[in-house]
Amino acid sequence: MQKIAVVGLGIIGSAWAKNLVADGLSVRAWNRSRKDVPYYEADLGRAVADAEMIIIVVADPPAVEAVLKEMVPHLKPGQLVAQSSTISAFWTKRFASEVEATGATFLEAPFTGSKPAAEARKTVYYLGGELSAVEKARPVLSGLSAHILHIGPIGTASSLKLAMNLNLALMAESLSESLTLTRVEGIPDEIYFEALHLNVGRSGLSDLKEPKFRARDYAPQFSLKHMNKDLRLALETAGTLDLPLAGRLKSFYNKGMGLGFGDDDFIGQIRLLAEEKKSEK
Ligand code: NAP
Repeated sequence: MQKIAVVGLGIIGSAWAKNLVADGLSVRAWNRSRKDVPYYEADLGRAVADAEMIIIVVADPPAVEAVLKEMVPHLKPGQLVAQSSTISAFWTKRFASEVEATGATFLEAPFTGSKPAAEARKTVYYLGGELSAVEKARPVLSGLSAHILHIGPIGTASSLKLAMNLNLALMAESLSESLTLTRVEGIPDEIYFEALHLNVGRSGLSDLKEPKFRARDYAPQFSLKHMNKDLRLALETAGTLDLPLAGRLKSFYNKGMGLGFGDDDFIGQIRLLAEEKKSEK
């Protein structure tokens, strides 16, 4: 596959499109708001019409719904649509039917790895769908990723992705609360992280976020508003299954969203702990 359309040039879509261009593939990329890149195509229908593979990576279910509404009349048999935005199994199944009604193939393709991983081609894909669709997509997705896991039928990859993000959100909260406790006790961050490196509580997440916590740098690698959306979708997926910590964490994210932290990295939630401390005084 040589002709690729990227739908969505946010943090991740921009990194992927750049890497696909660097690999010599013919890329056309669409974004809702104009982007100043040579492969930008303002008309979504034109961006996807001749593509062999279309990668969708936009914000949330309403965003996927909006782009599909414009794309579907241009889709045809032989094309492969890989949907990589994090959404739930419920929405994935619905969008898969819309795409497949055109004769095009749908591949559920959520992923893990934030901005640095996408830039460094270290994304990990979780794929849902037929093995034939996975194999068709593999040459292109391999160029963007370090690992490709075929999870199962359509819907399973989204549920796994939401479960992974639920774990990350809880881990980030636990790290934030632990770090805040030592800050309040006057222990320097340098000592905190030196101790964490020698503790089994050290994790991939703590290594990734340590420089950002220490610099109080909340520029987004993965935004708080998207983690908030993923917690909502995880709770919707859980339905009547009681996930007590997830429910509490979602309320805490509501507060972060209310304070205008949505566009910051999700570790920006730590400021809420500081806020709560201040308001106690
Ligand atoms: P982002 O930087 O916030 O970009 C969001 C993209 O969605 C932008 O291109 C935005 O267009 C577009 N969009 C939003 N609403 C839209 C609508 N109604 N119609 C059409 N386009 C719309 O997000 P991102 O970090 O690249 O993440 C994209 C997806 O990947 C999300 O589902 C996220 O949860 C998932 N994800 C992200 C990461 C990460 O670390 N960043 C990791 C794993 C999964 P405009 O530019 O016009 O606003």
